[in-house]
Amino acid sequence: MAVGDERHVELREALRALCAGFPDAYFRRVDAERAYPVEFVAALTRGGWLAALIPAEYGGSGLGLAEASVIMEEINRSGGNAGACHGQMYNMGTLLRHGSAEQKQRWLPAIARGELRLQSMGVTEPGTGSDTTRIRTSAQRRGDRYVVNGQKVWISRVHHSELMILLARTTPLAELRRRSEGLSVFLVDLREAIGRGLQVRPIANMVNHDTSELFFEELEIPADNLIGVEGQGFRYILDGLNAERTLIAAECIGDGYWFVDRVSRYARSREVFGRPIGQNQGVQFPIAESYIEVEAANLMRWRACERFDAQLPCGTEANLAKYLAAKASWEAANACLQFHGGFGFACDYDVERKFRETRLYQVAPISTNLILSYVAEHVLGLPRSY
Ligand SMILES: Cc1cc2nc3c(=O)[nH]c(=O)nc-3n(C[C@H](O)[C@H](O)[C@H](O)COP(=O)(O)OP(=O)(O)OC[C@H]3O[C@@H](n4cnc5c(N)ncnc54)[C@H](O)[C@@H]3O)c2cc1C
Repeated sequence: MAVGDERHVELREALRALCAGFPDAYFRRVDAERAYPVEFVAALTRGGWLAALIPAEYGGSGLGLAEASVIMEEINRSGGNAGACHGQMYNMGTLLRHGSAEQKQRWLPAIARGELRLQSMGVTEPGTGSDTTRIRTSAQRRGDRYVVNGQKVWISRVHHSELMILLARTTPLAELRRRSEGLSVFLVDLREAIGRGLQVRPIANMVNHDTSELFFEELEIPADNLIGVEGQGFRYILDGLNAERTLIAAECIGDGYWFVDRVSRYARSREVFGRPIGQNQGVQFPIAESYIEVEAANLMRWRACERFDAQLPCGTEANLAKYLAAKASWEAANACLQFHGGFGFACDYDVERKFRETRLYQVAPISTNLILSYVAEHVLGLPRSY
């Protein structure tokens, strides 16, 4: 039993029933083939689970972040990987909060029905990394179009999405007083863009996370696809980050419970030197410690959800939840791998797969150092370091 298991019981049961149809062997095969879990994501979409945060007036279920986070947690806790589709859960927030009435009506109902996928968000660039306000990809207004030139890196799920949120510079840095101004958000229709100004080059990487480099050369986007006010895009992207961080914290918590559960089960049954390995305190303590840390991170996740759903400021809580959860799941992953001995490395046990998957969250979507830096500056009032 974990902190929060008594919350949203029916929702958890529904998700557990759905996930039971996609056992370890399914995700193992998808990982080995570097494939996309098409059937799993289709089942989630059919159930309306990925439209949890879309308001009922646009055809979604109008649930809160707490419920959305349970959906993400349960996927990872069942042995799956919500990373294949978590973008669909939160990327539409930018459109919902800052899009015009016409844009929302045009896209949100189709996204809620699963006919359009808004799974991608293009922010990171090779030359600037975490320093988002210095991005160089530009969008220049020419008549009724914007013309985009530049490059992005590590942009996920472009091959499994019709739409992408794009952050680009609309006013050169030299003409601005503040670095955070002059950036704008666009909705790019990938069906029209790929091959006509946008080239996509997949990056082979450690996790099965369809992720690519994007090259923009004179890509034309209708001016109607600008979201909100030109130049205010950085603020719009920041607005969405609290939801993203809290949902990813919930995924890490799901991973953390999966690792603790698996390793506890293994340590109870694996006998060496004539007794279960779990009888040794050298084995027990790291597992117990992992459980404590996952539980503690979970408390912060609920706090972030409560504040977000009450529309209270929650930047600190979302960052703390993400930090604690990513750290706890990684410690739990280490204990799980360690006490499976050699079998931890065998693909058939799924530990090495989950170990790789959860490691990502120390780096993306925000690296641990950048969270520490946020806390130092914004919570503790220490001088800004960059
Ligand atoms: C699998 C995967 C999927 C991704 N998907 C997406 C996506 O869909 N869309 C998207 O836009 N991006 C995506 N990213 C990019 C991700 O958000 C970035 O990798 C991450 O923000 C870090 O940026 P960077 O890789 O450029 O690292 P850098 O910014 O180069 O940083 C490298 C290291 O230095 C540290 N560092 C940098 N500056 C400081 C400082 N001032 N103080 C202390 N430490 C510092 C960082 O913490 C980090 O550990 C993805 C990345 C991966 C690996």
